[in-house]
Amino acid sequence: GQCSVYCPSGAITEIDHSKKVDTVLKSKKKLVIVGIAPSCRITLAEMFKLTPGSLTTGQCVHLLKLLGFHKVFDVQFTADLTIMEEGSELLHRLTEPDTVTPMFTSCCPGWINMVEKQYPNLIPHLSSCKSPQQMFGSVIKHYYAEKINIEQENIFCVTVMPCTAKKKELLRPQFKDPKTGLKDVDLCLTVREIGRMVKRRGIEMAELEERAFDNPLGYSTGSASLFAASGGVMEAALRSAFWLKTGEDFPELKFKPVRGLDGIKQATLDFDGKDLKLAVVSGGANIHKFLEPWGTKAFDFDFIEIMACPGGCIGGGGQPRSNLDIVPIRLKAVYDREKYLPSRSSHENPLIKRLYQEWLKKPYGQQAIKYLHTTYQKYIFPSQMDPNQKNINEKNKG
Ligand code: SF4
Repeated sequence: GQCSVYCPSGAITEIDHSKKVDTVLKSKKKLVIVGIAPSCRITLAEMFKLTPGSLTTGQCVHLLKLLGFHKVFDVQFTADLTIMEEGSELLHRLTEPDTVTPMFTSCCPGWINMVEKQYPNLIPHLSSCKSPQQMFGSVIKHYYAEKINIEQENIFCVTVMPCTAKKKELLRPQFKDPKTGLKDVDLCLTVREIGRMVKRRGIEMAELEERAFDNPLGYSTGSASLFAASGGVMEAALRSAFWLKTGEDFPELKFKPVRGLDGIKQATLDFDGKDLKLAVVSGGANIHKFLEPWGTKAFDFDFIEIMACPGGCIGGGGQPRSNLDIVPIRLKAVYDREKYLPSRSSHENPLIKRLYQEWLKKPYGQQAIKYLHTTYQKYIFPSQMDPNQKNINEKNKG
């Protein structure tokens, strides 16, 4: 069947960057690094007519190594990092004066574009955290480059993502090094493009062995894997925000009210004596429906996760083409795998702890804000521009 999965950025006019990556690999001039997003290790199997989740993460790593990438890292590592930052930001907003709530998640560029174009009054409510893709690029081009003593321009950073909105996200001026003008992430490939590269090379899928991710960006927790599904970022953030606040583990690892494929989910959580009001929304129409009462009556929430695709990234427009029946199967694979991961919460990730010790110092501290947080800008439509403003979106383009 054809893709009936909603794609906010129009995957119909898909640009294929896989040949460009092949060229960079062949030229042997740069260290070519790849990182794979949480949902993509679930869906990559479908490119080879296998059921979602039937390739293990280790097999996906092996495929990427066979494609010739020099280092295969995990974007789930920076999903854990996102959680440390976002959990800390949430606590900050809940306790400090002169901050605004509710806080909205910011890891979905489809949603960020929607805010900048249609709901600019919500900009102060967006978490300032960069998405895991952009944190990945920032860690690679700043921390890792220095660690292995290589110039930024000699690294080519590629991500494997569930959507085409991620291809545009990496072009934002906020995600370029202010000094060198170099992008933190050079190119993003969708799962479909990776599938095509594998087929072009004629790689045999039978008996594909497992390989481990490279380090220091190769370990992640269950929380990071939940980013694949709607409600996952919320659940992951709660686990770590609770720990950051109380020093204790979140009482119930499986937080059911935010799971499942309902387009709008709401819950109240006893958060160390405070009632935390939560909402999880996915899919364009649901987002508009959910936000409609905003400004006209009290909008009583503390923390809201929003993803532009129905079901979250497992329903993304860069995933293997299928009909919507596939989304619950992908969802089940996400939660089935998560149960068996050795660590479940982002703050337990030993490599994240090391990253803070060596480089970032502390979550939501000065250094972390410099490298892992960003800003947003109201989009000016051409009809609203006066002639002197002509270039404003070029400057701010996302
Ligand atoms: Fe991309 Fe995921 Fe957002 Fe869809 S929900 S636009 S796949 S980041």
